[in-house]
Amino acid sequence: MATINQSVDVETAIILAADFGYDIEQGITEEIGIQMLNESESGGEKEPRSPVVTVMGHVDHGKTSILDAIRKTDVAEGEAGGITQHIGAYHVRSNYGDVTFVDTPGHAAFTEMRSRGAQVTDIVILVVAADDGVMDQTREAISHSQAAGVPIIVAVNKIDKDNADIDRVKRELAELDLSPEDWGGDTMYCETSAKKNIGIDELMELIQLQAEMLELKADRKRKARGRVVEAQLHKGRGPVATVLVQDGTLRTGDHFVVGQFSGKVRAMLDFKGQKIEEAGPSIPVEVQGISGVPSAGDEFIVVTDEKMARSVSQKRALKARESELGANTKISLDKLFEQMQEGEVQELRVVLRSDVQGTLEAFAKAAEELSTDEIKVKVLHEGTGTITESDILLASASDAVIIGFNVRPSVKVKELAQKESVDVRSYDVIYHALDDIKKAMVGMLEPTF
Ligand code: GDP
Repeated sequence: MATINQSVDVETAIILAADFGYDIEQGITEEIGIQMLNESESGGEKEPRSPVVTVMGHVDHGKTSILDAIRKTDVAEGEAGGITQHIGAYHVRSNYGDVTFVDTPGHAAFTEMRSRGAQVTDIVILVVAADDGVMDQTREAISHSQAAGVPIIVAVNKIDKDNADIDRVKRELAELDLSPEDWGGDTMYCETSAKKNIGIDELMELIQLQAEMLELKADRKRKARGRVVEAQLHKGRGPVATVLVQDGTLRTGDHFVVGQFSGKVRAMLDFKGQKIEEAGPSIPVEVQGISGVPSAGDEFIVVTDEKMARSVSQKRALKARESELGANTKISLDKLFEQMQEGEVQELRVVLRSDVQGTLEAFAKAAEELSTDEIKVKVLHEGTGTITESDILLASASDAVIIGFNVRPSVKVKELAQKESVDVRSYDVIYHALDDIKKAMVGMLEPTF
């Protein structure tokens, strides 16, 4: 028995906290406990780990083709074999070093993971076709990456085409804060043709350069911690999840907690579908032996034993149900003043949508001028056209409100906004919106129901 003066080791404390959860008022919660465990338990030295990369860009600009071309450079596989991909993330060994690609479709998945607090991507490759230039989804990908604070490497693709205009792409991107290095900016650019296999080696080299600048490190000796990239119910194997190990080494037989579930690693497959016994940092693996199907973005944490794994996951499930019923903590104009008073908010982030470009520019400028010492108004993303699901996810992940001018969300988008507790407001004139923001900042906005 521990007394009040006695110190217990972190793990005992976690088990106690998990068991008594709500009885401990000032003690550690299981979440904090796990964090402490992760921080205190250092197995060895931090060593460099390979970068995790996501490829984004407008449809048909060549994302798939570039990934295919990169896979062919894999030194372990050789030109002929290539890699048959088994899961949504894979590892390539190039002459410049190893790179892990997370191949989730589009930036919506990227941001959906981020809305669960998951940041798995170290570097974004933005593919822009030289014959087409910056398009809607290019802009969206940039906003999503910038909101996440992830550095972008630009691949200007399709340079083999007659109508390729590389300078135009650079000009358009420079306007979006992505000035190339040879123009005095700090964004790395690479000119590629996925079709003719030009510039792919250089792209791999740039990835390593950027990775070195980020000084990515992990401690492979500690217990593993990672994130779920995708998960499903497999007919024969039961619930399976692709987990990207971010720190430590995951081994067969390890007990773990993942989201609201727990389990013991029954078997692990690498991205080629081959059985492996252990996986270190930046390695994606398919894990079998989970008590249910977790969600993309869920944290995966190895714990000491089954009792702890169960206990923590049960408490988490309980908490998730409670928060579903309980108050939402997302930012909203109605509660902005209250949230400012409580010191929760220093920045009002806004995603803008309008039927015409002119409104966007005028509103963005006026809105940012509303910033005071207490609160800064910042436009995260703006675009013409209707409010999309991707806007909702961006707002949810970045805790932003959405303001639309003469555009209304579809029923599906509205439902998602409700699910994610995102405040979506539609206006017909700029000054009504500005008025509401001003009122919200001083607590004078009448709540709308
Ligand atoms: P994604 O939608 O961004 O994944 O684009 P894809 O990789 O599917 O490519 C779209 C089309 O562009 C396909 O027909 C490709 O063959 C073609 N494409 C991709 N890269 C290049 C390139 O470098 N040069 C040319 N000429 N065509 C390319």
